[in-house]
Amino acid sequence: QTKFLISAPDIAHLDEYLPGDVGVEIAFAGRSNAGKSSALNALTEQKSLARTSKTPGRTQLINVFSLDADRRLVDLPGYGFAKVPLALKNKWQLALGEYLQKRACLSGVVVLMDIRHPLKDLDMQMIEWAVFSEIPVLALLTKSDKLAQNVKMKTVNAVRKDLAKFGDWVQVEPFSSTKGTGKPKVLSILNKWCHP
Ligand code: GDP
Repeated sequence: QTKFLISAPDIAHLDEYLPGDVGVEIAFAGRSNAGKSSALNALTEQKSLARTSKTPGRTQLINVFSLDADRRLVDLPGYGFAKVPLALKNKWQLALGEYLQKRACLSGVVVLMDIRHPLKDLDMQMIEWAVFSEIPVLALLTKSDKLAQNVKMKTVNAVRKDLAKFGDWVQVEPFSSTKGTGKPKVLSILNKWCHP
């Protein structure tokens, strides 16, 4: 029953637009083109809740969706798009770090990464910020249908090993929006975050 709630024009002004810091919020973050919109649509079973974009990095808009009166999903703008000017990138990262550190109702962050290109610098930074703020992370390896089963499991295990230093704060799961792979597991993790 996910519904669009509000948009904020950019992350620097997010706190002016967000509802009060109460209830539960789950943020979705990832590099442009990681498959974030597709995953949001697949997980909420809505065809076009989040718009899959043909021009990555074009918009800095942050969309907030409500699951119910107390619970929200926050679709953060894709990061790491080469054409975004450095000054804007830096500003965006600062604001994002602030959001992760200050938002008390933030109960989990889903960091989406293309399974073929996981753990880029900004992904690691995102994961570190969240864990340092004591927010659990689900590292979602998207487009898992693009890899053969054995390569897929090898990648998942390698990423798990790389993130093992974060202990229980970080879980790693493969996911495919097109095939539905990983969906029950992801929904169960999100459900736990929603009901602390
Ligand atoms: P976003 O920029 O992170 O929101 O990424 P999108 O959801 O717009 O997806 C980027 C591209 O990857 C699009 O061409 C999607 O069709 C494709 N894509 C997303 N998820 C999957 C998936 O699970 N499997 C496959 N094969 N392609 C996907």
